[in-house]
Amino acid sequence: MKEVVIVKYGELTTKKGNRNQFINILRRNVDKKLIGLDYKIFANKVRMFIESNDNDEVISRLESVFGIHDLVLAYKVQLSYENIAATSIEIFKDIKEATFKVNTNRANKNFLMDSMEVSRNIGGVLLEEYPNLKVDVKNPEAILNIEIRDDYAYLYTNNNRGLGGYPVGVQGKGLLMLSGGIDSPVAGYLATKRGISLDAIYFEAIPHTSLMARKKVLDLMEILRNYNYKIKLHVIPFTEIQEAIYKNIDHEYLITIMRRMMYRISERVALEIGAKIIVNGESIGQVASQTLESIGVINEVVKMPVLRPVACLDKEEIIAIAKKLGSYETSILPYEDCCTVFVPKHPVIKPVLEKCIGYEENIDFEDMIERAVLNRLVLNTESKEKNNLL
Ligand code: ATP
Ligand code: MG
Repeated sequence: MKEVVIVKYGELTTKKGNRNQFINILRRNVDKKLIGLDYKIFANKVRMFIESNDNDEVISRLESVFGIHDLVLAYKVQLSYENIAATSIEIFKDIKEATFKVNTNRANKNFLMDSMEVSRNIGGVLLEEYPNLKVDVKNPEAILNIEIRDDYAYLYTNNNRGLGGYPVGVQGKGLLMLSGGIDSPVAGYLATKRGISLDAIYFEAIPHTSLMARKKVLDLMEILRNYNYKIKLHVIPFTEIQEAIYKNIDHEYLITIMRRMMYRISERVALEIGAKIIVNGESIGQVASQTLESIGVINEVVKMPVLRPVACLDKEEIIAIAKKLGSYETSILPYEDCCTVFVPKHPVIKPVLEKCIGYEENIDFEDMIERAVLNRLVLNTESKEKNNLL
C-alpha cells in the first residue's frame, strides 16, 4: 500500500482573499525544506499531497514549517469501498484496543455512499475485526480519517505533527533584537509563527564581550533558521557608544540610555532592510529596564512598532518554549553579552524622560550611531567571518 504525506493549511484557509499568496509562500517554504529529497507535490486549495521515497524524512523536515496545521502520513488507495475497508483493518492492526471514531470527508460526490454511511460502515467493519475496540464519538483515543477524492481514498489516524501558525513571509519582514539570552530566541520563534520573516541584530562590545558570545548568538540564529530560512545576523559594533555612556552618564541611567541607543540603531537597520517591525524579548517586570515606566521611556526613541511576544509570559513558560524550539541549551551557556558587562549596581526602575534627554546631550551620539550602523557585519550561514569563528 502506498503512503503519502498530507499537509493541511488550516488557519490560512479562513483568509480567503490571501489564500493564493499564502499557499504559494507555504509551497516555497516546503520546497526549501525538502531540498535534496526526491519528491512530488500535488497541491490544491486546502492541502498538499507529497509523494516521496522517504516519508519519515519528509515529515521530520516539515515539522518545523509554520503554516502547516496538519502533517500526517496517510495510506493512498485506489478508490473503492473494499480498499477502504481493507486499509482500515490494516491501520488498526497496531491499535486493536482503544476508543475510536471514524471521520469521513467526501470530496467526490459520485462515490456510492455518503460520508455518514462510510463512517458507519467502516466503524462496523472495525468492531467486527477487533472486538476490543469501542466507539466514542465525543472523546475518542483514535480517530480514523477517510478522505474520498476522485480516483483515490486517503486514510490516516490522528498523529498530527503540524506546527500551526502562518507561513513565514506572509507578514513581511521584522528585525529581532537577539541577545545570547533565553528570551529573545523565543520571541523570534513566536514572531515567526505569525508569518514574520526575520533578520536579527546583535550588539557587541568587544573587547568587553568575547567572540564566544558572538558565536553563541550565531548558534542561536542557526536554530532560528530552522524555522526562518532567510535569517541573517547584523552584528553592531557597540563599544564606542557603550564606553561613551559609561563615561558620561549617571550610572543609575546606564541601562536606560544604552537601550535607547539600541532601539535607535535597530530602527535604522530595520528601515534599511525593509523591516516593518522590531521584535525583542522584553518581558514585563523581569528586570529594571522592563518596568512599564522603563519600557515607555526606552520605546520613546522610535516610531516603528515594537513587538514583544514574551512580554506577558512567565520565565517558566518562556523556558518551556525555548526547550521546544531547541534554543535553551545554547542560551544557558555562560558567555557575557554587552548588557551584563556594564550593569550598574542600582539601575533606575522608574526613569524620567527629561533626565534621559538631558544626559544624552552630553554625548555626540548621532555620529556614533551612524558609524555603528555603517560598520555592522552582516552574517549568514555562508559568511567567511562566521566560519572563521567556528
Ligand atoms: P534574554 O532576554 O534574551 O534572555 P537578556 O536577559 O540578556 O536576554 P535582557 O536584558 O532581558 O536580555 O534584554 C531584553 C531584550 O533586549 C532581549 O530579549 C533582546 O531582545 C534585547 N537585547 C538585550 N541585549 C541585547 C544585545 N546585546 N543584542 C541584541 N539585543 C539585545
Ligand atoms: Mg531577558
